[in-house]
Amino acid sequence: MARRKKIYEGKAKILYEGPEPGTLVQYFKDDATAFNAKKKDVIDGKGVLNNRLCEYFMTGLNNIGVPTHFIRRLNMREQLVRACEIVPLEVIVRNFAAGSLSERLGIEEGTQLPRPIVEYCYKDDALGDPLVTEEHIAAFGWASAQDMDDILSLALRVNDFLAGVMYGVGIKLIDFKIEIGRIYEGDFQRLVVADEISPDSCRLWDIESGRKLDKDVFRRDLGNLSDAYSEVAHRLGVLPRAQVTKPKLIN
Ligand code: C5P
Repeated sequence: MARRKKIYEGKAKILYEGPEPGTLVQYFKDDATAFNAKKKDVIDGKGVLNNRLCEYFMTGLNNIGVPTHFIRRLNMREQLVRACEIVPLEVIVRNFAAGSLSERLGIEEGTQLPRPIVEYCYKDDALGDPLVTEEHIAAFGWASAQDMDDILSLALRVNDFLAGVMYGVGIKLIDFKIEIGRIYEGDFQRLVVADEISPDSCRLWDIESGRKLDKDVFRRDLGNLSDAYSEVAHRLGVLPRAQVTKPKLIN
């Protein structure tokens, strides 16, 4: 049997050639990395959880008319996606201060922002994904002015959707990162949400307790990462809660 072709291997995912032209298979690994891969570990079950959660978010976005690369989940760790050309930007949307914004501007984590703030980082691991402005993006030709309008609108629609879904299960969406892909249809290109949406790329805090349910649990050694991701999956109904069998009383 022929071995399938690996197209790209990243820190948390592998892309393989898909079954039809224009498709790819996205495989979710259990590897967790932080601080540009300076901190690494393997977290049992993380890939399975992220595959399911990503399916949930991307399907929801497709259903409300926000285009994504997602086609369907194939199995526990893999999903079929449309091949696209990735815009070399990480698009970050923030509703509350945290992480690098808090450090950069000295704003206490958890402070509500006056409005969602959208930031762009240039995707380059060697440079540590530096923050860039629309001036850089235009000058270096990473995206056109029209692309930037579309990217901003996609990012804010994803924010409204995710924040609403999370609020419904008692979770505050602090911030998240998405990546954008270009898909060519004849002479036209369409921008879609690509890569993944999962607790690896969002900050999610329990509304009541403030407990962190995202990758900061790993980054900051706050406990068990797969417990945190399972909690998000259970609340969203993506995974059933493990049945707790009560001991039988014998008279
Ligand atoms: O670190 P920072 O505060 O800039 O991260 C903002 C958001 O973007 C967080 O939700 C983080 O998980 C996400 N992010 C990411 N991948 C990166 C950088 C940030 O998913 N390379």
